[in-house]
Amino acid sequence: MPSETDPGTHSRTDAATDGATHSGTDRIAQPWGERTPYGRDGDWPVRVDSYLAPGITAAAVDRWVPTASLLHSNGDAMDVAVVGGRIVGVRGRADDRVNRGRLGPKDLFGWQANHATDRLTTPLIRHRGRLVACDWDTALDRIAERTRHLLREHGPGSLGFYTSGQLFLEEYYTLAVIARAGLGTNHLDGNTRLCTATAAEALKETFGCDGQPASLTDVDHADVLALFGHNMAETQPVLWMRVLDRLAGPDPPRLVCVDPRPTPVARHATVHLAPRSGTNVALLNALLHEIVRTDRVDHAFVDAHTVGFDELAGRVADCTPEWAARVCDVPARDIGEAAELLGGAERLLSTVLQGVYQSHQATAAACQVNNLQLLRGMLGRPGCGVLQMNGQPTAENTRECGANGDLPGFRNWENASHVADLARVWNVDPSRVPHYAPSTPALQIFRYAEQGSIRMLWISGTNPAVSLPELHRVRAVLGREELFTVVQDLYPTETAQLADVVLPAATWAEKTGTFTNADRTVHLSEKAVEPPGEARSDLDILLDYARRMDFRDRDGRPLVGWHDPESAFEAWKECSRGRPCDHTGLTYERLRGAGGIQWPCTPQNPDGTERLYTDGITWAAPDDCETYGRDLVTGASVSETEYRALNPDGRAVLKAAEYVPPHETTTAEYPLQLNTGRTLYHFHTRTKTGRAPQLNAAAPEVWVELSAAEALRHGVAEGDLVEVTTPRGSVRGRLRVTGIRDGMVFLPFHYGYWDTPEGDRPGKDGGRAANETTVIDWDPVSKQPLFKTGAARLTLVERAHGAVSPAPTTTASAPADPRGVPPTTGGPSAVARRNTGTPRGERP
Ligand code: SF4
Repeated sequence: MPSETDPGTHSRTDAATDGATHSGTDRIAQPWGERTPYGRDGDWPVRVDSYLAPGITAAAVDRWVPTASLLHSNGDAMDVAVVGGRIVGVRGRADDRVNRGRLGPKDLFGWQANHATDRLTTPLIRHRGRLVACDWDTALDRIAERTRHLLREHGPGSLGFYTSGQLFLEEYYTLAVIARAGLGTNHLDGNTRLCTATAAEALKETFGCDGQPASLTDVDHADVLALFGHNMAETQPVLWMRVLDRLAGPDPPRLVCVDPRPTPVARHATVHLAPRSGTNVALLNALLHEIVRTDRVDHAFVDAHTVGFDELAGRVADCTPEWAARVCDVPARDIGEAAELLGGAERLLSTVLQGVYQSHQATAAACQVNNLQLLRGMLGRPGCGVLQMNGQPTAENTRECGANGDLPGFRNWENASHVADLARVWNVDPSRVPHYAPSTPALQIFRYAEQGSIRMLWISGTNPAVSLPELHRVRAVLGREELFTVVQDLYPTETAQLADVVLPAATWAEKTGTFTNADRTVHLSEKAVEPPGEARSDLDILLDYARRMDFRDRDGRPLVGWHDPESAFEAWKECSRGRPCDHTGLTYERLRGAGGIQWPCTPQNPDGTERLYTDGITWAAPDDCETYGRDLVTGASVSETEYRALNPDGRAVLKAAEYVPPHETTTAEYPLQLNTGRTLYHFHTRTKTGRAPQLNAAAPEVWVELSAAEALRHGVAEGDLVEVTTPRGSVRGRLRVTGIRDGMVFLPFHYGYWDTPEGDRPGKDGGRAANETTVIDWDPVSKQPLFKTGAARLTLVERAHGAVSPAPTTTASAPADPRGVPPTTGGPSAVARRNTGTPRGERP
């Protein structure tokens, strides 16, 4: 198996014809490319990665159009190459703060999905049980008619919207205005609920406000990096390149990795802790216990900037490493060693992702990571901070714009003056802004649809028939006669096949808009080519619907007064004015010239803000905060009065939580812990990456992971066809034996049915989607579903008889015993170019 420093199987160096040295590497076999080492506090060197379709040279490209990646939350900046009105490749942008020219495998190859032959090109409408093509007027009139009927007969509560982390800021903002002030419904959420809701909630609980405190540049300065449930190598490969380059340079950082799988992060870690599922809070409480016991607490920082220290210290007093070792099934000495590293760090950067967010006690655990940073006083300085990461590229925008569970601009739905201020921006009466309760979370929206109170569900840019838990139930909801379902997407997804109306959408590079990555960097993504057929941007579709519905403000003017992406952006800027996510210093023109810029960005602060909380905690005061918070264990709301008493001066809240065991535990019938997750070559439900040849070939089919000891216990071996069953359903896949912790079974969750004969559900070969097996259960605070805590059994279906597991060998699914397992390579079609010089005629 090639490592990230080995030459790739298909590397080559090209003769330079343009003044720069170009080399090529198989970026499927070598996902992270070659190293460009640098030292602590140094500048991350430039390395420009590019991939052009076979036969196309850089000289032949008509135009390079700037954008950023829409396949993960790192937001890698790139230019799209256009020849003859068609996308032919991509090139990283050397001058961008996020990636300094580098691209990951999904960035390099994912654009080809735009050209898929099964793109939706006309609206479709269900007629006598079948979806048939129609024109836009027919489709949108049908939707507007149904909306009016439902508003008349059942009120706004009968309308629900479920959107994505794939649309652009301008589109989310327009959707939020339409749903909230136009229709008056509170049933609006994004699939970011499955992914990032806990990040937002943990930031709100601790800092009183959403918004990522740290910056990706903190990797350049930290001496200890702690990754909690964050397989950065696969979820943010370019950020992982930054870490690898630090590791290869002088004064490398030390890594703490918390993950039950043998991820590339774990392989590079100084300490790797692989806890039992559902025990993150126990582990974190033990780490905090050690920090307090050894008095590695920055008391001056804690006294000046936090409340709640005594309660936290009391809560973790009995949480010794020995206690946690029994709960988490990790050696107590490893916990002690990790605590030593965390406690001794001069500059500590912690990051968190799905291993925490999709697990039992998600928000409670994420808050304990915030607590760790606060106790150590590691905030607001280079190399010190916490990144409560996002999974999706535009997750941050759903949060800013109020297209998920928040009011736009991080306003507090319980604070009358925040609601009045939003009503002022929209020029409507405050009663037109639904604020009788928090926005309805996604799983509750589906439950209302199941129970019949939601009668129209408009789903944009997401595929719940694969991504939500307990799929047989989701399919039943979407198939209900009484539910009118609109699906707006690029392809005939599993969900689209169950819809009443399907709207063909344009995507990345076919439309213009902005989006914000995980560290608050805003990029402008420009239209490079026309969308196929009659497909239209999500913004155009929403604006057309708003026109047909004729929404008006209190002066009788159109409620949605903008008409294109730039005017939508300008409208949003007004909504963001004076708020934590202030965008008023940004314009399309500035973003064109400067690349990515981090919010808050104002005319007084035109270069944006690298880190939050450099000078104390900014938004936690009772009159300013976005939420008064919840009890981390029960989810019960904290009242305004309680919050005022707890935190009158607006400091960070050191919020404690006791460990409670997960609801679903293993039994004799279901002896394994089920873990599901994302992997390197795919994104989401594979709607795009499954249509990019190199990515699909690298991981074409679902697989099942088990440890060697567990495989022995079950009498199964590498390549055997096995079935994973839970009380909800089952999935079949070929076995990969890895270094995953004993007692756990892992399923990648990308696979659905669109490329199987059945199209939208399991066929005769059994289930393929991991969510056939997962349970509808959610974190009490963030309402994020628990995809990583369940009990399962595994049975043999058929011996391998020469068949091999389709799991990649380059990642966490690397075989424990590589003998007889063919390495994952991409071959000549996956060779991407890189250069570390400045080619003539190209942007450096
Ligand atoms: S693949 Fe995971 S991290 Fe990415 S958007 Fe989906 S849930 Fe979030």
